[in-house]
Amino acid sequence: MNRMCVHGIVIAFCLPLVVFAQSSTGAVSPRAKQVHDAAIVVDSHADTTQRLVFDKTFDIAARNTTGNLDIPRMREGGLDALFFSIWVSSDVTGADAVKRAMGQITAVRQTVREHPKDLVLATTAAEVRKAAAGHRIAALMGVEGGHMIADSLATLREYATLGVRYMTLTHFKNNNWADSSTDKPAHNGLTPFGKDVVREMNRLGMMVDISHVADKTFFDALAITTAPVIASHSSCRAIANHPRNMTDDMLRALAKNGGVVMINYHAAFLSEPFRVASEKRSGNLVAAMAAMSKKCGGNEACTTLEGERLDHEAMAKGELPAVPWDAIIDHIDHAVKVAGIDHVGLGSDFDGATMPIGMEDASKLPRITDALLQKGYTGKDVTKILGGNILRVMEAVEREAAKARKGP
Ligand SMILES: [Zn+2]
Repeated sequence: MNRMCVHGIVIAFCLPLVVFAQSSTGAVSPRAKQVHDAAIVVDSHADTTQRLVFDKTFDIAARNTTGNLDIPRMREGGLDALFFSIWVSSDVTGADAVKRAMGQITAVRQTVREHPKDLVLATTAAEVRKAAAGHRIAALMGVEGGHMIADSLATLREYATLGVRYMTLTHFKNNNWADSSTDKPAHNGLTPFGKDVVREMNRLGMMVDISHVADKTFFDALAITTAPVIASHSSCRAIANHPRNMTDDMLRALAKNGGVVMINYHAAFLSEPFRVASEKRSGNLVAAMAAMSKKCGGNEACTTLEGERLDHEAMAKGELPAVPWDAIIDHIDHAVKVAGIDHVGLGSDFDGATMPIGMEDASKLPRITDALLQKGYTGKDVTKILGGNILRVMEAVEREAAKARKGP
């Protein structure tokens, strides 16, 4: 998500994790371990790219004590494929936004080249499956915010050529052709050019990502797209009333489109009490956040890590309600009840948000499998949520693009 833009202010300081010490990786049942290991586990949204770009001390191959993921913790959590978010603040537009996005794409591609035993670039569902079969983690890319095409379909095509496989139509602010869920409506959804962007994405085989967009933009995109769409990192508004989350009507429409909602683990999207409290937060917290923002300057990796630290510190002090990790399960279960088992997946927002207590990093992912099995989900159902559903959508989007290439 990137927190600098959450209503203009950030949320909290991540308390020393010892305060919420969990039993190391969290023991799961042998059956959960078996189901989790056999599944292809896909996470459709992490902001770790900001660390690659801004944090010169960050080594993705080492087990870090900060942040939410790296290769060792992805391995431990059985994560087989990760979409690295290419994210530039919506305040940055035009050629500068394109330049910065290109720099991040280069950083992801370079990281993959530097770790060939662990990572491999993937652009299709088949490549994800092949990577998993070869015990390598598939690295994919999504551009988080349509402002990064600078109103140019040629730039969109360039991103596709470089391997980007989804684009979130907006970020926290409206762009010139689409309204965002966290800005004042300016276009009544998608403009005619915005509709052309959706058509071009269908043609290119890029998934249309409706996380962050205004409800009207979502319905406009659904009316235009010929392929299933995704919400790469959104949760359920029926549980946490945040405009970034999806209403039940949206979930039903997404299911009808054949798409998938990838549940976001951010505390303010999972928990209504946390959302309300954090939006009303005290002057102290606001002051702490302003100080943090100043300290970090334009370093987005710093902003994110410090933001999570602030939030967790506030949870430990009781200034914000503590959000337990199994809130993720409540959102998955709600989305399954409303949209169906074929339309739900995982889009953590790791390294870009405040993780709930007990899901501090990617090593904890098997807990989700364990909890769903305990709730009565079958192994087959859980496998769909872990990655089967998003792979199905990728294949459908690829088929649609192949049809477009052949022409009418
Ligand atoms: Zn986001």
